[in-house]
Amino acid sequence: MEENNSKQNNNSAQSQNNSAEKKSGGENRNQNKNRSGNYRKRRYYGNKNYRKNDKQKSEQKEENRQPSNIKKFNFRKVSIVIPLLNEEESIKPLYSQIKTVVDKISPDYEIIFVDDGSTDDSLKKIKELASRDRKVRYISFRKNYGKSSALNAGFDKASGDAVITMDADLQDDPAEIPNLLGKLSEGYDLVSGWKRKRHDPFVKRHSSKFFNYMTRVMSGIKIHDFNCGLKAYRSAVVKTVDVHGELHRYIPVLAGWNGFKVAEVVVKHHPRRYGKTKFGVSRFFKGFVDLLTVIFTTRYIKRPMHFFGFFGFLSFLLGFLVNGYLSYEKIFHGKAIGNRPLLFLGMLLIIVGAQFFSVGFLGEIIVHYTRDKKAYSIKEKNI
Ligand code: UDP
Ligand code: MG
Repeated sequence: MEENNSKQNNNSAQSQNNSAEKKSGGENRNQNKNRSGNYRKRRYYGNKNYRKNDKQKSEQKEENRQPSNIKKFNFRKVSIVIPLLNEEESIKPLYSQIKTVVDKISPDYEIIFVDDGSTDDSLKKIKELASRDRKVRYISFRKNYGKSSALNAGFDKASGDAVITMDADLQDDPAEIPNLLGKLSEGYDLVSGWKRKRHDPFVKRHSSKFFNYMTRVMSGIKIHDFNCGLKAYRSAVVKTVDVHGELHRYIPVLAGWNGFKVAEVVVKHHPRRYGKTKFGVSRFFKGFVDLLTVIFTTRYIKRPMHFFGFFGFLSFLLGFLVNGYLSYEKIFHGKAIGNRPLLFLGMLLIIVGAQFFSVGFLGEIIVHYTRDKKAYSIKEKNI
């Protein structure tokens, strides 16, 4: 990559670089913004005796400034995976925005559009792009399978050692890609965008805050925005994590629980420009059920008894105490207990406890006989 950056010194197309850098978020955004901000001021307004010569000089300076603004990453190739469903208006503007940014940071990249069963002209638009740019790849599903499946298919085909995912609706800003890659190259495996200032409806903003809080507490992964479409991954993550159902919301949890290092950077977020959101109110229920699934499959899939055994034991113990107390009343004080609601509660707790235990045992037996090949994920090896 460093070599590639130096190649870009002479690249005249770099003249847009400052503006692209200016758009980028995070700490570097401010740095660059100040730099290019000052520079612009000097160039256009600062000098009253502004002459052609000065202009040439400052343009020369601008050229020279580029390499220091270009971040140096250690990635060989970047794959950008974009799941989409009926986003025909956004595809071309998104494509050109991505090109402007990625052309500057990586000579080798691919843009993989995954058409998740669109019924509009999305596929046609993608094919037009692919026919004139070999970096554009596409996969088109026969029907709509959902964002998770689209991401999974894209991950499967991604050949870069760094993978970026982003939504196709122009809500995610491609100018953030260098920041994500920058953070990734600090040694993280997954960098998630954090839409600190969101441009979504009120209900969605607040329910999403609640979900993020719950997910943070239940998973122990300390990030703020689990479901941000804009993320960067090392390829090991996308080749390891299996995103099915609607688990795309919890990729950082799946990754974190597989031992990958997860971080986040603040990213810009835009209001939806065309079309409408593809997820209705059902997302709230599905999101919650999926969270339970994720927690169960990441933490307890290999040891179901730890989950069922805990609740079974708790319930059994409570029931035992309740009925023990009633038995004491009956035996030592001769009280009638047959008509006391507490008796039924005690019985219920004991039965439920025993059932949880049985399910736990069955789970253990199943795990024992289906011990799979991928019980661990290797970071490095020399054999
Ligand atoms: N999407 C998809 N398949 C689906 C639903 C959505 O590929 O079944 C894509 C969609 O086209 C967009 C991204 O997933 O590129 C995020 O969807 P959306 O913008 O509707 O979600 P929101 O921003 O409202 O959470
Ligand atoms: Mg969106």
